Amino acid sequence: MKFNTKTIHGGQKHDPAYGAVMPPIYQTSTYAQTTPGDHKGYAYSRTSNPTRSALEHAFASIENGNYGLAFGSGLAAIDSVLKLLKSGDEVVSTNDLYGGTYRLFTKIYEEFGIKFHFIGMENVERIEDYINENTKLIWVETPTNPMMNIIDIKTTASIAKKHDVLLAVDNTFATPYLQQPLDLGANIVMHSATKYLGGHSDLVMGALIVKDKALADRLYFIQNASGAICGPQDAFLALRGIKTLHIRMQRHCENGKAVAEFLANHPKIENVYWPGFESHPNHNIAKSQMKDFGGMVSFTTKGNDYEEAIKIVENLKIFTLAESLGGVESLAGHPVSMTHASIPKEEREKIGVVDSLIRLSVGIEDEDDLIADLRQAIG
Ligand SMILES: *Cc1c(COP(=O)(O)O)cnc(C)c1O
Repeated sequence: MKFNTKTIHGGQKHDPAYGAVMPPIYQTSTYAQTTPGDHKGYAYSRTSNPTRSALEHAFASIENGNYGLAFGSGLAAIDSVLKLLKSGDEVVSTNDLYGGTYRLFTKIYEEFGIKFHFIGMENVERIEDYINENTKLIWVETPTNPMMNIIDIKTTASIAKKHDVLLAVDNTFATPYLQQPLDLGANIVMHSATKYLGGHSDLVMGALIVKDKALADRLYFIQNASGAICGPQDAFLALRGIKTLHIRMQRHCENGKAVAEFLANHPKIENVYWPGFESHPNHNIAKSQMKDFGGMVSFTTKGNDYEEAIKIVENLKIFTLAESLGGVESLAGHPVSMTHASIPKEEREKIGVVDSLIRLSVGIEDEDDLIADLRQAIG
């Protein structure tokens, strides 16, 4: 089955009870048993629920995995991966990282005795310098947030394999429409399904997908033991979102390209960060591991003025000033005052998060309206 069919049918069966084409929302915590232990595959909804199972099968299918797991948020999914580790273990992670992931690693898991090395992985050779006998996990985000750096998944996977270390890839920005990390050698794919997979800014959810049965069993154990599951209503919404992932992504990419090119030609704009430009430092890796370049675009203004950037995001009418990304509607964010406000100025400027940086999640509205909105807002 090809990807555009998998988003609709992958891992799905019509409901056995009445043939419902869409999976019913099994809003139940428990299931009747005829004699103790004799049930129809479901005993208690923390452990499993038929609506969640349908979604987990869809997750596995679209990422070319064998097993999918759904969680109550992206961070709950990441938390479950970290629970594979124990005190004394070490993790090598990208430094341009989703802020909540950084907070979970440093404020929770460092306290439990896990050591993290945050490094720029645009140069994959650097990774090996940080691997020792305690290293158990490499954590990669690509494209990164908000600088749109690209990390070579295939080479990172071969390094991980050589040292017998797990490679987990946060595939939230790219989605499986653009890149499928398991096929490139990653062991675990993670999603904030809150973003593109759900696609309609109406739920918070996380996902993990793996190929290996033993690894899946450990993660299912953690999912059930720790209990950070999603409810059946949200599972239904995510399933509905996934059905249009491919056509939404196609338009996100088209509009992202149009917006990136408009900004690159605007006299008031200094830098535009978008992996589709040939001038992007890892454009060739993006081209080889991604089908297209996505709908996330960041930019800075000439003069790098804080007040001017605030004016621009306030002036926008179709783009909504908001956290998050990946919905059908276009959003704009100002990392310095929003997502990255807690990072010291010196630290954030090292990775390029400067005062005038604006991050756009380009939606699927009409391209002309989006460009007209940016033109009037930038002035
Ligand atoms: C939003 C996001 C997360 C966290 O997911 P939640 O669903 O908000 O918990 C992790 N990684 C990336 C890249 C994200 O954008």
